[in-house]
Amino acid sequence: MVLKNIKYAIRNITRPPVTRMYPEKQSELSGRFRGLQILDKSKCIGCGICANTCPNAAIKIVKAPIAPGSTKQRWFPQIDIGHCLFCGLCIDQCPKGALSSGKEYAKGLVKWKHKDLLMTPEKLAREVDLEEGDEK
Ligand code: SF4
Ligand code: SF4
Repeated sequence: MVLKNIKYAIRNITRPPVTRMYPEKQSELSGRFRGLQILDKSKCIGCGICANTCPNAAIKIVKAPIAPGSTKQRWFPQIDIGHCLFCGLCIDQCPKGALSSGKEYAKGLVKWKHKDLLMTPEKLAREVDLEEGDEK
């Protein structure tokens, strides 16, 4: 057994490493990868179908400014990403195509507290920095 392991180690000594230095070297994601949802505010009509579809009740429809700095408000989805299972049903059911899958799965989503996982319409629309939470 010991000899087998030594042989295995010698045989692999010249091979390139298979481990990845994350986060310095990001993983390549499939085109079908479902990360944090992206909201297109210009398409959203605030109908709430996404919220009614969500099997985990992770979506709430809330009032938010129609654009950064605007005083006009409309209804948009807000996602508690701590309860989201990334099934994509909200995206499939949106009648306006206002939701899509983003590629973020770590940036801005790794938090210590559940309350910090609340993705406001501003965060879903990427109007704020996901990590900092500041308006762009
Ligand atoms: S994202 Fe789509 S389904 Fe959800 S409220 Fe907006 S238009 Fe309706
Ligand atoms: S991806 Fe699935 S679980 Fe997550 S918010 Fe949409 S419907 Fe709910």
